[in-house]
Amino acid sequence: MNPDYPRIARGKRPKTVVTIGAARFGDGHFALIAGPCAVESAEQIDQAALKVKKAGASVLRGGVFKPRTSPYSFQGLGLEGLKLMRRAADQAELPLVTEIPGTAELEAMLPFVDAFQVGARNMQNFPLLKALAKAGKPVLLKRGFGATLTEWLLAAEYLAMDGNDQIILVERGIRTAGHELRFTLDLAGALWAQRQTHLPVFIDPSHATGRPELVEPLLRAALASGLDGAMVEVHPSPDQARCDGDQALTSAEFSSITKNLSSLARALDRPDHHAASKPPHLPQR
Ligand code: PEP
Ligand code: MN
Repeated sequence: MNPDYPRIARGKRPKTVVTIGAARFGDGHFALIAGPCAVESAEQIDQAALKVKKAGASVLRGGVFKPRTSPYSFQGLGLEGLKLMRRAADQAELPLVTEIPGTAELEAMLPFVDAFQVGARNMQNFPLLKALAKAGKPVLLKRGFGATLTEWLLAAEYLAMDGNDQIILVERGIRTAGHELRFTLDLAGALWAQRQTHLPVFIDPSHATGRPELVEPLLRAALASGLDGAMVEVHPSPDQARCDGDQALTSAEFSSITKNLSSLARALDRPDHHAASKPPHLPQR
């Protein structure tokens, strides 16, 4: 047991299963969370929700508070966007996850979200981590792009301080040499984190590469190497996206990829993303 992060260290305890709405993560199957970078309009998020659900995603993603590198880039629709996203998610019968920018937004967001995402730029926002530890909702913790693996796990330990174990770790690419790809996916680091903790570990190949054509091969690698799932950006019309359109998959591409992942899961004797939801007779959210 690692004494630096006793609450999340693997030790002898079984893996934690994280539940978001009716979706389960960390129970052995490879799960998918998908949706656009940002919520842009009712039509866009409605379409995205229905399409990713049909393709086999078990949670809808989408940003409404967008922490952008440039203050002149699209900053998101805020709470109004979250309400649109809630409606879209309910129509598609999917739970939703969205990024929380800081403690100030927590109370207003709480009634509308099934899980909170802590973005890479906020991984060490300690007041936010402490507030989320008590908020009673699952948290997806992105790794900061300049953070060591231990810093990432220590950030997760903050989230676990109040007995919360509903935490998913997301490796979303780190800074290395070169500018050809947006970031570098640290697949080995994700696998190491998975062995260090009892928490589910995901990758985000969309932000890690910035290249839609690299998303599928990395998803295959994650599935084959035993990671718990992935978060992927999917947009109904990537060329019109207000945010991260260059890296988004079309709904058709995502659907074809999920079929291929199912075949790979079968070949590897691993349950696939279709096993992500509880059977309908069990209580839903
Ligand atoms: C996102 O998921 O859209 C996002 C902003 O991710 P990250 O915090 O990893 O950059
Ligand atoms: Mn994005």
